[in-house]
Amino acid sequence: MARGILVTGGATGIGLAVARHFAEQGDTVVITGRRQGTLETAAKEIGGRAVVCDHTDPQAVERLLPQLPDRLDVLVNNAGGNTDWDVTEDDELTALEAFAYRFRANLDANLLSAALTTKAVEDRLAGGGAVISIGSIAADKGSGAYGAAKAGLASWNLGLAGELGPRDITANVVAPGYVADTEFFRDQLTPERRDHLIASTALGRAGAPEDIAGAVAFLASPAARDITAQVLNVNGGEHGTR
Ligand code: NDP
Repeated sequence: MARGILVTGGATGIGLAVARHFAEQGDTVVITGRRQGTLETAAKEIGGRAVVCDHTDPQAVERLLPQLPDRLDVLVNNAGGNTDWDVTEDDELTALEAFAYRFRANLDANLLSAALTTKAVEDRLAGGGAVISIGSIAADKGSGAYGAAKAGLASWNLGLAGELGPRDITANVVAPGYVADTEFFRDQLTPERRDHLIASTALGRAGAPEDIAGAVAFLASPAARDITAQVLNVNGGEHGTR
């Protein structure tokens, strides 16, 4: 039977690889994001449905609900990123106000977005289903507000697993290391830094979006029915400082 799947931020990078995996299984896949054109292109490619939604905005998440399948088997909270790298027009702000703005933006993008979306759809999550949130190795590396938000995501997931467990729904985090070929780093990654990140892995290579999709697929499969409240690190064995 086709499963109902929601992949937030599913038009690019890791989210798109995840969405493509489920679509290839014949599942009914909805992808979201803030850019309509990017979403439509991705949805056409995988044969899914695209809905524009900013997952930090409760009203936008509410507007998303009628567009989703009545029965949701898998929710992938993937939308997020390091908002320090977004250009913000904060000329009017003091330095401390700008710090607070950026800090909150990271918490909203990476933690609130997942909590809000899960809360909104929790009633239609089906028994035997799974909530999988995309964390980060940054949670363990002292990576400022972004790392703190991803660490918060793992902590929040523990409570979620307890809430959903009695309904036979699992809740886990997949925590990637450096994944190349996504929009994540924008123009922030110098060749030297990239080489350093790769050299810090046991496997000596960057991850690919498909590597993360493989871990998500496993956690969403019956083979993982007894795995919940966990963080699955998918980072090529990255070690040391960033
Ligand atoms: P991308 O930038 O390609 O993917 C992020 C996606 O999330 C985009 O499609 C973006 O679309 C969407 N998004 C961001 N904010 C929102 C929002 N508020 N509402 C809706 N959609 C949103 O990078 P990745 O694929 O690499 O990142 C996916 C996830 O993986 C993120 O959570 C990231 O933190 C995590 N991660 C990535 C790593 C890497 O090395 N690449 C390492 C560890 C974790 P749009 O801008 O159109 O809204």
